[in-house]
Order: sequence, then C-alpha cells, then structure tokens
Amino acid sequence: MLDTKIISQLQKIVGKEAVLTAKEDLNAYSYDGTTTWAHLPDVVVLPTTAEQVSQILKLADENRVPVTPRGAGTNVSGGSIPIKGGIVLCTTRMTKILDINKTNLTATVEPGVVLQDFNMALAKEGLFYPPDPQSFLGCTIGGTVAENAGGPYCVKYGVTKQYVVGLEVVLANGYVMKLGGVTVKNRTGYELMMLFIGSEGTLGIITKVTLRLLPMPPASKTMMAVFDDMSAGGQAVSNILARGVIPAKVEFVDNFVIRRIEEMTPMGLPVDAKALLLLQADGSPAAVEVESGQIVDILKKSGAKEVKVAQDASEAAKYWGMRRAGFAAVFGAAKTVMAEDVAVPRDKLAEFIHKLEEISQRTGFFIQCLGHAGDGNLHPAIFTDVSDKENFAKAQQTMEEIFEAALSLGGVLSGEHGIGLEKQRFLSRAMDPVALDLMKKIKGLLDPNHILNPGKIWEEEA
Ligand SMILES: Cc1cc2nc3c(=O)[nH]c(=O)nc-3n(C[C@H](O)[C@H](O)[C@H](O)COP(=O)(O)OP(=O)(O)OC[C@H]3O[C@@H](n4cnc5c(N)ncnc54)[C@H](O)[C@@H]3O)c2cc1C
Repeated sequence: MLDTKIISQLQKIVGKEAVLTAKEDLNAYSYDGTTTWAHLPDVVVLPTTAEQVSQILKLADENRVPVTPRGAGTNVSGGSIPIKGGIVLCTTRMTKILDINKTNLTATVEPGVVLQDFNMALAKEGLFYPPDPQSFLGCTIGGTVAENAGGPYCVKYGVTKQYVVGLEVVLANGYVMKLGGVTVKNRTGYELMMLFIGSEGTLGIITKVTLRLLPMPPASKTMMAVFDDMSAGGQAVSNILARGVIPAKVEFVDNFVIRRIEEMTPMGLPVDAKALLLLQADGSPAAVEVESGQIVDILKKSGAKEVKVAQDASEAAKYWGMRRAGFAAVFGAAKTVMAEDVAVPRDKLAEFIHKLEEISQRTGFFIQCLGHAGDGNLHPAIFTDVSDKENFAKAQQTMEEIFEAALSLGGVLSGEHGIGLEKQRFLSRAMDPVALDLMKKIKGLLDPNHILNPGKIWEEEA
C-alpha cells in the first residue's frame, strides 16, 4: 500500500485527474498482452511532459517506490505488468508528433504516439517508417523502442533499432538525458542510445524519439503460396534468400490460423493447406515486376502447390489483414496461450519447423505456429490452462524443449518480444555469464535503487 502523502505529491505533479487509484482503473493497468500474468499497481499516473516524468521518478527514487513504464500494454512478455506494485507510469497522454522533416527524412515524436497515427501522418507526406509490429493499431512508439519491436517489413528494412537516431530518456534519479540527435551518422563516444533500445523499461523512461524515415516505395505486389508441408514452406524462405532476392515481407501461418480466420471472416482461404507463406515485393514498378516473378518461380520450384498473386490493393489488404488477425485468433483459442518468440538462423527454418513437429508428436501438445519467417522469427504457441497445474507444468516443459531446439540451431530466446517475466528462467542458459553480469552492473549504475520495472528480465535480489 502506497503512502497517501506520495499519492498527493503525484497529484501535485500531474494534476488530480491524471492520478488513478480506483480499483477498476487499477485493474485496467494490471495486465498486458500475455494471458499468464496480472498484478495490481497501487497507482497509475498519466504525465504529459518529460518534466513531469522527471519529478515522478525523483519522488519514486527517494521513496524507493517501484515504477513500471507502460505504453499501450500490448507486449506479450509481461513487460508492463507492475509485478512489484507501486506506480504504473503510462505515456498515453504524450502523443505529440513534434516534427516531420521531409528534407532530413526524420521525425521526432513523444513516446505515447500510436504507431498507426504516426504512419498515417507520414503517408500524407509520402514517407515511410518500416518497423511494423502487428499491433500497430494500438502500440506506442515508446513501447516499440523499449521492446526494439519488429514486424513483417523487417526482413528487408530492419527492426526499430535501425531507425532510432535520437532519444530523450529520463533516468531513475529524474535526470533528463539526451542521446544522439537528428543525424543519421553519429560516432560520438559509446553507442549509449542502443542500451535503452530494447531495455524493456528497466533503465530509463523514453520521453522523446527521433526516427529515420524512408520515402514510400512507389509500387508493391503481394503473393500467397500454399504448402502441403510446413517445413517445405520454411525451406522455400531459405531458397528465396539464397537466390539473393530480399522480399519486403515473408510471413508464415499454419493450418490452425488459416482455419480460425476463415471461420471468423470467410475469405476463401485454402483451409486444407498445411501452411501459407505471405510475401511482398516492393520498390520501383519495374523492380517489383522482376522480383515478384523471381519469387513466384522459386516458390513453385520449392514445392508450393499454388501461388496466388494479389490482383489489386484490396486483395493484398485482405491477405495482410488475415496475417494481422493471426495473433488474436491464437490468443482467443484457449484459456492460457503460451506464445513464444524464438528466432533461428534463416537457413535453419525448415529444420526448426521439423523439430517442432517432432516435439508435438512426442509430448502430445499441439504446437501452433506463425511468424516472421523471413527473419527466422517464429511464434510457436501451446494451448493450456494455468489453473490446471498438471497440464500447465507439462506445457511449460514442452515450451522449454522448444527453446532448447531453437538454441541448439544457433537461435535466440526472443526475436522481438523481449524477456519480461515470461522468459527470465531461461536467460542464464542463453547468455554468456559475463555478459549477464555486465547487464546487471549497468542496471545497478543507472538505477541503483532498482525502482525501474523491477522483477523484469531477471528476478531482482531483495
Ligand atoms: C496482436 C499483437 C501483435 C503483435 N505483433 C508484434 C510484432 O509483429 N512484432 C513485435 O515486435 N511485437 C509484436 N507485438 C508485441 C507488442 O505489441 C510490442 O512489443 C510493442 O512494441 C509494445 O508496445 P506498447 O506501447 O504496447 O508497450 P507496452 O506493452 O506498454 O510496454 C512494453 C515494454 O516497454 C516498456 N515501455 C513502454 N513505454 C516505455 C517508455 N516510454 N519508456 C521506457 N519503457 C517503456 C514497458 O515497461 C514494457 O517493458 C504484438 C502484440 C499483439 C497483442
């Protein structure tokens, strides 16, 4: 329980109506995109300026109150769960797009700007910001930077960290620090900015972001390839990349998602297919023609039963809408869904899919699978029920086998969702112990009282 004096000081900083303490409000900030975790905060604060964030952190640091930063709460690793109670500092009122510079190809925004709003503002200027987590209708820029989010476009264009050129971050002691700037190149000292990208709210609160932009590609073409065999779909991805063709997007969905989407929104999907690959080529119209022709050819030679090329923008939008709904289709399928986020080297994708099938047969758990195949980043999911202890324990054991399978192929624990609460048990197996120790020392330097998102990435010692 938080001291009422702290609540009144918070009210002085941000105003009474920006401090929430009612049970129903606290409930709304107690969970995120995961289905396993929930914890009530003592209070939620909704600042509008970096100065307010600074004062909140000073107050929290002096009184050793945990602070969990939060954007839209769409993460799927438990990152924004206030697991130690205290303050949830939510940035959804910091929504200004401060600058879009068409000549410098940069934009500066506050952290609470919703990615879709940003994309719409850029589209009016003919500009393009590629990182496109499939939660873009709701997730915030601050959340995407703190998670170093990716998405379908990242196979060709790279993830969030490749676009951040400047950050304003409020440190745990309240200091407002500026890193980088508005230049695309910057070799001034250590790359400290990278420390904060993907730091899951444990090192500082991001209050301003400057992003590099691209011109909108003038043309694009979408293709959908149907496979009778899941690992053949994975092999097709490696075959495309090995031919030196880099599509803008390469996504994988399995039969479960195809059927669920077709049930919810009938669109004539091939419900008997074992897997679909959705691909997009983009660039100048001539380049798109050549590239899409090459992609179709490789897909057919790789065993695709059928390759459909979208005839217009609305057909393409239909296919991408299906991919976007994939996660929701999976999360609604069971009481508890363990959806993972492993990434393997792209030439090991078919082997990894094969291993998933083996694990599923051996353990008896159905393993659902979709993801950013072009990046070797898949989201295998297991359906369970956290209240059924025996089944849940077996599901956890099966998920552990999935991690081991990915690691044994040279893969990693998380491609884009982060460690949060979900994967800290496995961190020491997946990281060099000296690197892990260095991470903890960095945390200790930047946040000596461990107020920022405590309990995340690794369990804090009391
Ligand atoms: C349907 C669906 C599809 C998704 N698809 C993708 C995908 O394709 N790719 C992908 O990468 N992710 C995906 N995600 C996960 C999620 O949307 C991303 O991680 C996103 O970046 C989270 O943004 P958010 O604003 O919701 O952040 P939150 O969930 O609120 O927070 C995420 C983390 O960032 C920290 N944080 C938030 N704001 C700040 C800040 N201003 N300063 C410091 N720390 C902060 C939080 O403490 C937390 O640790 C998906 C999620 C869903 C539900």
